[in-house]
Amino acid sequence: MSEQMTAVVVERLGPPDVMELRDIPVPVAGPGEIRIKVEAVGINFADVLAVAGEYLTRTRVPYTPGMEFAGIVESLGEEVTNVTVGQRVACLGGSGALAKYAVAKAAAVIPVPENFTGAQAAAFPVSYFTAYHGLKTLGRGQPGEWVLVQAAAGALGTASIQLAKALGMQVIAMASTEEKLQLARDLGADVTLLQDDPERVQKVRDAAGGGGVPLILEVVGGPRFQESLDMAAAQGRVIVIGNASREQAHLRPVDLMKRNLTVTGLWLTSLMTDREATAAAAQALTPLVASGQVTPHVGPTYALSDSARAFQDILDRKTTGKVVIEPQRLT
Ligand code: NDP
Repeated sequence: MSEQMTAVVVERLGPPDVMELRDIPVPVAGPGEIRIKVEAVGINFADVLAVAGEYLTRTRVPYTPGMEFAGIVESLGEEVTNVTVGQRVACLGGSGALAKYAVAKAAAVIPVPENFTGAQAAAFPVSYFTAYHGLKTLGRGQPGEWVLVQAAAGALGTASIQLAKALGMQVIAMASTEEKLQLARDLGADVTLLQDDPERVQKVRDAAGGGGVPLILEVVGGPRFQESLDMAAAQGRVIVIGNASREQAHLRPVDLMKRNLTVTGLWLTSLMTDREATAAAAQALTPLVASGQVTPHVGPTYALSDSARAFQDILDRKTTGKVVIEPQRLT
C-alpha cells in the first residue's frame, strides 16, 4: 500500500465547511517534478471562490485546495537539475498544497530570498506579482501619481500599498474598519478612507487633488465598480482585479467615453504565460525584496485542521495580510 498523508479534501463545492481532513496517498514526483514538504500555504480569495465553485475556471472535485505555497524540496523526479533536495522554494500551481506533501513542476518553482520565512515565501507570489502587474504592467503607474487601493488591509492590498510606495506613488487606501485603515497607514498609505463612508466618492476625488484618481485597483466589483469609475480622473485607468463582493457589475461603455477612461482586466494566471511580463515583474521586484522595501505582511496562521475556519474568516472579512495555513501542524 502507498504511503499515506493527511490532506484537506473537497468532494462537493460549497461554503468552506465542505473541506474535510482525509488520509490520501503521498504524491510521487514524476519526470520534471519535485516533491515538497509543505511548510506554509498562502490562502487567496481565489481559493475561497474555487471551493465555492465560483472561480474563473471550473473546479473539478474531488480535489485538495492550495495553489500558493512554500516548503522544503524533499525528493526530485527524473530530469530535474534546477533545484536541490533541502532547498526552500515557493510554488504557484493549480491546487494540492493543503497537505503534508505536494508535487510541483520543477520549472515553475520561484527562488525564495534567504531572509524570508516559509510563511513569507508562501505569501509572496500571487499578491506581489498581481500588485506589480496592476500598478505597472497594465496600470502604467508613474512616480508621484495617485493610486486607489481597495481592500487595502488584505493580502493584495497590503502588497499593493508597499509596492506603490516603493515605486514612488501616492496611495489612497480604502478598507472596512479603522483597524484595517491603521494597518494601511503603517504600511505607508498617504490617505485612508472607510469603504462605507457615505461621501467616499467625493472624498477620494478630493484626496487626489479634486480631479479624481488616475489609477484604481478595483477588487470589490458589484455596485462598487460604478463608483470606481466615478472616482477616476479623466483618462484614468481602472484595473479590474477582483470581485470580492461576488455581485454583478454593469458597465455602460458611454460612461468610459465621457472622460476617456480605460478599464483593463487583470488575471495573474493568464499573465504568467507572458514570459516577458513575468520576467520584467521579477526583475523589478527582486531588488525591492532584497532591500526590504517590500516584505509580505503575513496575517493569521492556522493549523491544517482549521482550514475551513481560515477560509470562512477571509469571507467574513476578519483577516488582514496574507492568511497562511501550516500543513505540518495538524491542530
Ligand atoms: P484579501 O486578503 O484582500 O481578502 C478579501 C478582502 O476583500 C476582505 O478582507 C475585504 O476587505 C474585501 N471585501 C470587500 N468587499 C467584500 C465583501 N462584500 N465581502 C467580502 N470581502 C469583501 O484577499 P486577496 O488579497 O486574496 O484578494 C483581494 C481581491 O483581489 C479579491 O477580489 C481577489 O479575487 C483579487 N485577486 C485577483 C487576482 C487576479 O489575478 N485577478 C490575484 C489576487 C487577488 P475589507 O473588509 O477591507 O473590505
